[in-house]
Formats: sequence, C-alpha cells, structure tokens
Amino acid sequence: MVGKKIVILGGGFGGITAARELRGALPAEHHITLIDRSGRFMMGLRKLWMLVGRGTRQEGTRSLDGLREMGIDVRVATVSAIDPRTRTVRTEAASVPFDYLIVALGAEPRPDLVPGFGPQAFNLYDPDDVERLAPRIRTFREGRILIAVMGVPYKCPPAPYEAAMMLDDLFRKRGLRDAVQIDTSTPQPMSLPVVGATNCTQVEGYLAARGISFSPNRKVMKVDGSTVIGDGNTVNADLLIGVPPHRPPAIVRESGLTLRGEWVAVDSATLRTSVEGIFAVGDVVEIPTANAMALPKAGIFAEAQARVAASQIVSDVLRRPAPAVFDGRGYCFIEVGGGQATMVQGDFLAAPAPAVQVAPPSAQIYQQKVDFEQTRLSTWFAP
Ligand SMILES: Cc1cc2nc3c(=O)[nH]c(=O)nc-3n(C[C@H](O)[C@H](O)[C@H](O)COP(=O)(O)OP(=O)(O)OC[C@H]3O[C@@H](n4cnc5c(N)ncnc54)[C@H](O)[C@@H]3O)c2cc1C
Repeated sequence: MVGKKIVILGGGFGGITAARELRGALPAEHHITLIDRSGRFMMGLRKLWMLVGRGTRQEGTRSLDGLREMGIDVRVATVSAIDPRTRTVRTEAASVPFDYLIVALGAEPRPDLVPGFGPQAFNLYDPDDVERLAPRIRTFREGRILIAVMGVPYKCPPAPYEAAMMLDDLFRKRGLRDAVQIDTSTPQPMSLPVVGATNCTQVEGYLAARGISFSPNRKVMKVDGSTVIGDGNTVNADLLIGVPPHRPPAIVRESGLTLRGEWVAVDSATLRTSVEGIFAVGDVVEIPTANAMALPKAGIFAEAQARVAASQIVSDVLRRPAPAVFDGRGYCFIEVGGGQATMVQGDFLAAPAPAVQVAPPSAQIYQQKVDFEQTRLSTWFAP
C-alpha cells in the first residue's frame, strides 16, 4: 500500500487528539503532519485560574514537540491558504500536499469587531490580556467589575459566569466583597440558551446567590475606556472584562469549503466537509442542535469529533468498516468558587432539544475539572 499523507491544521484539543489517534492506528508508512502556528498548547480554563492568581500560565503550557517523539511530523508555521482543488495547504515556508486533511483551526476572539475596545478593556479569552489583568485584580479594592459577553458565538459559554463567581470568591476571601460590585451581561436572552430555560434559571440562581447581577439582552454597541455603551443603556465600569465575538480564521472562510453561516459545515455524525477527504472538527465548525441553536464550542467536543474524524480516515485508509460517529454527548464545567464546581452534562444533539442537566456544585466536580487538565497535559505529550 502506498503511504497516505494526512495533514492536520491546528494543534489545540482537536488537532492533538486527531494526530495521536491517527498515529496510534495507522502503520508508519502513512505520514501524519500537524501544523500549528504557536507550537504550544494551553487550555482555556487555565486563563480563569490565572485571573484569580491560581497557578501560572507556564504550569499549564506544553510544547507540541512531545508529539514528534510519537512519529508525528509537527511543523510550527502559520497556514496561509487551504486549496481543496490542488489538495495542498500553504504556509509561509512550504506547500504541503495531502490525501486527507483535518481542519482544527479553532475560533478567534475578535476584539477588533467591538468599536472602541482598547487597552483599558481586557479580553478574558486572551492569555496576554489576562496576564495584564491579574495584577489589576490583585490590587483592586473597590468599584464595579463588569464581565460582558460582546457577541455570539463564543467558546465555553459558561466561562464568563465562572469568572464572575471565581472573582466573587476571591474578593470574599480578601474581605472586600462589600466594596466590589460584580456584574455580568450578555446579548442573549438567558445565560446559556442552548441548555434551555430551566438549566439557565439554575445557573443564574448561582450568580444571584453570590450577589452577582446578570443582565440578558444587553447588546454592546461600543466601548469607551472601561464604559460599555449598549442599545439604550450605558454601564460605567471600573474594570471591564469582555468576551469578544468569535470568528473562524479568514483562511477557512476563503478555502471554498461549504460554510454554515461563517463556520465550516460538516456532517455532524462523521465530521466530513463538502470536499471528499477533508474533515473539520472543533470550534471551527458549527453543528446545529435540534432546538435550532448550535453545539457549544468546547474542548470536550473538539476532542470527541477529532476521534471520529481520525477513525473515519483510518477506516478509509485501511478499508475497515463501521467507524465511530459523533453523538453530541459531553459536558462543560462551571466553577462556582470555594473549591466547588458544577457541570452541564448530557446529550446536546437530542431531539427536540438538548437533554442536559446541571449537577449540584461539589468539590468532587471541581476535582474533575482539575483532573481534566492534568490528565491531558501529562498523557498527550509523552510517547
Ligand atoms: C476561558 C475558557 C475556558 C474554557 N474552559 C473549557 C472547559 O472547561 N472545557 C472545555 O471542554 N472547553 C473549554 N474551553 C473551550 C476550549 O478551549 C475550546 O473549545 C477548544 O480549545 C477548541 O479546540 P479546537 O481544537 O477546535 O481549537 P483550539 O484549541 O483553539 O486550537 C486551534 C489551534 O489552531 C492554531 N491556528 C489557528 N490559526 C492558525 C493558522 N493560520 N496557522 C496555524 N495554526 C493556526 C492555533 O494556534 C491553535 O493552537 C474554554 C475556553 C476558554 C477561552
């Protein structure tokens, strides 16, 4: 058999999982290349711990070099074009041909889409901004903190609410909570629309119980310093923490792959795109739910989808039947402070609506969140 060239774009949850699965399942004659512009991996959840001074960025970061020892050709480069017609991808250094391609390039938070979003506002999803913000939090003694979702979709939908509850916990421990107002806002009609009104009431109840305000239907028109100007309302915050709208990388939109809105359209069971042999997984795709919303953008789903895409490729290459399919089951952690967390868990692709529940907060679920990071950091990069 002539070896196949399998190229994976992006070294995040999806790309790493796909590369490892493929390397584990295919004989060495098949070449597996992973291209990522940063050459490093860090989970989004670490940004929230950095925000409240729990652990460092470095502790949660791993080089993709470890994947090389497994026989994966890791290239640190920026992909500048995907050409399905010639079946090549281009980087600044090379043109890389493929027989199979997995696009796992993620979603980009885009503060530039929010007029006026400048250095006085902080992007909760940018590790550099969080590093800049953490010292401000350490010295913050009184005033108003606003955590504002500024557009949808955005990854890990509970994260802004987690951040609010983690800040609540921090200021309580510092004896400053009475002097610090913590507000949250979103343009959506409820905190996590995809999980339904009952689950949202529960999550919004966790906020209310901690004295954190929650304002739905708040569209952000522009930002001025740390002031948010909305559609008919203005909020003057002392500290503005934003979650900007997200978009797929431009090269994905320009690739000619069929899109769903702005995101890559895939068959939700197999992660196959409109082009034979090209798959897309993770935050870069949009998978509709039965209640006409979209599957949340979360690492747990990127991982599960990557396993499916890899198994589809293995089955094509080795001519094996019955590969795995993606079933939409998963969970998202919601840390509530005080060493406790809850999770939204269930079948997100169930009909007529996601069949998910919010578990009662516990120290055990918090530990699961800690283990979620630790097990991946300790196993993914070691041969
Ligand atoms: C604050 C926060 C908390 C979160 N908490 C959780 C959680 O508890 N559980 C959970 O499941 N998910 C969580 N998430 C969401 C999770 O991080 C994402 O859903 C996940 O990273 C998506 O994986 P992915 O592989 O699709 O994309 P990513 O992990 O974003 O990977 C994309 C990769 O593509 C690379 N790339 C992009 N463009 C190019 C290019 N042109 N050339 C080369 N490389 C490129 C990037 O460098 C990146 O490494 C959280 C996210 C945030 C921000």
